[in-house]
Parts: sequence; structure tokens; C-alpha cells
Amino acid sequence: MLLHLSLHVYLNIMEANITQSSFTKEQAVKNKTKVAVAAGDGIGPEIMKATLDIMEAAGAAIEPEFIDVGEQVYLSGNTAGIEDKSWDVINRNKLLLKAPITTPQGSGYKSLNVTIRKSLNLYANVRPCRSLHPFVKTLHPNMDVVVVRENEEDLYAGIEHQQTPDVIQCLKLVTKSGSERIIRYAFEYAKQNNREKVTCMVKDNIMKHTDGMFHKVFNKVGEEYPEIKKEIQIIDIGAARLASRPEEYDVVVTLNLYGDIISDITAEIAGSVGLAGSANIGSNYAMFEAIHGSAPDIAGQDLANPSGLINAAVMMLQHIGQTEVSEKIANALLKTLEDGIHTQDVFNPDFSRKKATTSEFAQAVIERIGKHPTRLKPVAMAEGEIRLDKSNEPEILGEKKLVGVDVFVDWPGKDPEELGRKLKSAAKTLQLKMITNRGVKVYPNGNPETFCTDHWRCRFINKDVDLSNGPSCEKISHKMIIALLNDLVNIGIDTIKTENLYYFGEERGFSLGQGE
Ligand code: NAD
Repeated sequence: MLLHLSLHVYLNIMEANITQSSFTKEQAVKNKTKVAVAAGDGIGPEIMKATLDIMEAAGAAIEPEFIDVGEQVYLSGNTAGIEDKSWDVINRNKLLLKAPITTPQGSGYKSLNVTIRKSLNLYANVRPCRSLHPFVKTLHPNMDVVVVRENEEDLYAGIEHQQTPDVIQCLKLVTKSGSERIIRYAFEYAKQNNREKVTCMVKDNIMKHTDGMFHKVFNKVGEEYPEIKKEIQIIDIGAARLASRPEEYDVVVTLNLYGDIISDITAEIAGSVGLAGSANIGSNYAMFEAIHGSAPDIAGQDLANPSGLINAAVMMLQHIGQTEVSEKIANALLKTLEDGIHTQDVFNPDFSRKKATTSEFAQAVIERIGKHPTRLKPVAMAEGEIRLDKSNEPEILGEKKLVGVDVFVDWPGKDPEELGRKLKSAAKTLQLKMITNRGVKVYPNGNPETFCTDHWRCRFINKDVDLSNGPSCEKISHKMIIALLNDLVNIGIDTIKTENLYYFGEERGFSLGQGE
């Protein structure tokens, strides 16, 4: 109770300090960019104060407008963790600097980060991770990697269904337009920041349509950037190499889930999750934050490392065209670390000279504004905002032709031949071509050793035609699918979902079963 009270009082004082920062005083200076600022929970208010103080000292032309998001908002009964009045400020400013927040335990609370990303169409997550050897301990002294992660699609659409007692499905949705946009962003980022190589990581040896399309788009968009080296890697070996030889990578672009994982790997192996910042970029909005959480274990003790949020602010200033001040802060931060002024999380007796509190660290950075590091490579910030001029309209691929349907059924039996016989005799309008179980063909002529669960994918096509005829195979109609479902329901089959099989011009828009 005592701890709770003192923490609460502390946070109030902190918040008061932040809101009284001279940034918020009415300043009649023109051309200041207004930024929505969320001080967050846990260590959030401490690192936000440090970051704002540094920006102010460096001469950043910004004007913060504070918003309440996070734990207190959740606990007041708002399951999204953000009030309408905060949305108004974000919508007005289109720019958000956010400290970490605490999501209360228990179901029903929605992730604020996911809500903000999706609501504001923040499609690109950009996370630079550079090692600061020898001043911050790392096994990889020469790494300098930027992960550009697609931020909205893939398995994160959150579309999940339990379909049988045994099987639950999560839909992986990948769009051509979204893939083209993130890949183009990665190339533009590389171009703007004088990076030499972009590596695309996918799993298209297995997911030939979703990841395969990402791969193809990478090749196509890459042709527009002849000066940049291109590389494609399968995500498993790519992630392994990134963890063991990160110095071989420059910019990495990938889908949402892979990006989520590898961007944490890169931050961790660079030395500390406390150091990395990240940008979430959309066409009209952008959000900048540290990658770590609210660290409740050290909150209110002036112990937190503010570098992650400072780096996020550096990215924000570059994004809004305040390149010079952004570079000044980045170099002052490097100089502070190089001078051995370290917070406890990165303190190392071999190179640290002073164990600094959060506020002492911020002061040390302020004192070094205008200075450059001498042992670490100084930051030379590229000018300007990245703008994607090309539109991302999906390419027209030719006629969309319905050629069959996969009907998924919940069937508790074990013998695929028995299910095959039942379906074959029931289906009057379409013919059963094959049945797969967990993707493996089990009918006709399956291997008796294949394990079968209660979830069967039954592929139907036009009678008397063969899908191997490719794009020239016969069309079917939606009415034929409805008639088929009727036929199956009439014999007591539990149909749990259908997926239509299309050709798009010459391109088959569905995968074949393993063994089909
Ligand atoms: P965490 O990142 O808060 O903490 C993990 C460990 O790292 C802790 O030991 C912490 O003390 C340390 N640490 C983190 N940031 C530090 C810093 N700047 N300086 C020094 N040490 C630092 O992760 P967690 O404990 O898993 O999560 C705590 C809370 O944060 C949870 O409520 C979680 O939901 C939330 N969270 C928020 C965000 C966000 O808002 N973007 C991201 C991740 C986690």
C-alpha cells in the first residue's frame, strides 16, 4: 500500500514536471511541429522527461500536447486504454511520441499498440539496431542493422476460428499492395540512409502463395533500385545468420510475424533492449517509441535507461525534417555512452566511468550537445522524409475464374476412403478430386500411415474436367457450390467452411495438396 501510494505520488510529480517543461509554455515561435506525447506508465514518465529535456536543450522545434493513455485509462473501464479526447489530439497532430505503457493483466484489455497501428494505418515498423562496442557489451561489435517490418497484415489480422474439436485456425492475410508498399519503403529507406543492401526474408519454400508473392514483389520493386544490393533468404536460416553474423546485414525487410521476432533478436544481440527506438510509419501518421516495456520493477527509482526513447525521438525529428537537431542529439547520446556515463542496465566496470541515474544521464547528454563521439562512428543523418510516390494499386492479372471449391468438413471418422465414398456419391453437381488432412493428400490413394485429425479439406471441381488443365479448365458457378453444400448437408456432413478456387488469368490462385 505504502509502495503503491509513494509510486503514485511520484508519478504525479513526474507528470507535473513534464507538463511544466518549458515546451508547454505558450511560445510564440512559429514553425513548431505539434506532437502528441504520451508519458506512459512505469518508467515512462521518467524517460519521457529525460527525452523532452534533451530535445528542448538541442533546440528541437516541437510543441508537445500531452495525452493520457495506458494503465489508468484501462483501469477506469476503457478497454482500449485510450480516450476519445486523446484520439482528437493524435488526429490533429498526426505525430505521436509514446513512452511504454502497462497493459493490465486479465482478458478484455486490448493492446493499445495494435489499436494505434491499425487505426492510423502505420504500415512500416522501422527498428535500427547498432552495436556500441566496446561501451555496451555485445558479441557483435560491428553490427548495424535496420529491420523494416510490415506492421498490419499477416497472422496479426487476428482472425481465428475453432473449427472442429481438434483444430483451430489463424488466417494469414498478405496483400500485394501492402507488400509492395513495405518493400518500397525499405528500398527508399536504404537509399535515403546510404545503405548498401536490402535482404528480404520469407518462407516461400512452404508458403508459396503468400510469402511467394512477397518474394516476387521484392524482385519486381528491387529492379527500380539498381544501385542497392538485393538478397533473399528463407527466414529460418536468415534469422539464424542474423543472430550469429549480424554484421553481414544492412536493411532487412520482412512480413509481420518474422519481423516481430527478428527485430527483438537484433535489439537483444546489439547489447540491450533498453537502447533501441522504433518508428511506426504510415502515409499520414507516425508514432515513435522505445522498444522496451514499462519496466515496473525499476519504475519511480530514477534508474531507467532513457536511450531507447531518445533514439525514438531522434527518428521522429529526422522524419519531420529536423535533421540537424536529430543528428546533434544522436551524436551527444553516443558521446555520453563513449564517455562511460552509463545507467545501471548497461554498466560495465571495464568501460563505465559513472553509474548514472536517468536524470544524470539526461544531463550528461545535454552537456554533450554539439559534440561528436571520437571512437564510435558519428551519426550523419540523411535529409528529408521518405515519401512513396508510386501508387500501390493491385496489378490486374487477367480474368478471375472460379474453377472449384475446397469444402472443409468436421468428420470424426478415421478412414479417408470411407469419407471419400460418402462425398462422391452425395455430390451431384461437382466431382470430388481429392481429400487432404492437415494439407497431406489422403484420398484417393493416401498413405495409411498419415495421421488424420477431424479436419478434412475436400476439393471439388467441375465434373469431367481436370484441374491440371490449368487456366483453361472449366468454370464453375457459385450456385453449383451452394448445391454441393446442400448435397453434403443432406447426408449429415458438418461443413465448416469453404474456400473458392480461382485462376487469375494464367496464375493459379490456390496451392495444391501435398501429393496432389
Ligand atoms: P520490460 O521491457 O518492461 O522489462 C524487461 C526487463 O528489462 C526488466 O528487467 C526491466 O527492468 C528492463 N528494462 C526495460 N526497459 C529498460 C530501460 N529503459 N532501462 C533499464 N532497464 C530496462 O518488459 P516486461 O517486464 O515484459 O513488461 C512490462 C510491462 O510493459 C507489461 O505491462 C507489458 O505489457 C508492457 N510493455 C509495453 C510495451 C509498449 O508500450 N510498447 C512494450 C513491451 C511491454
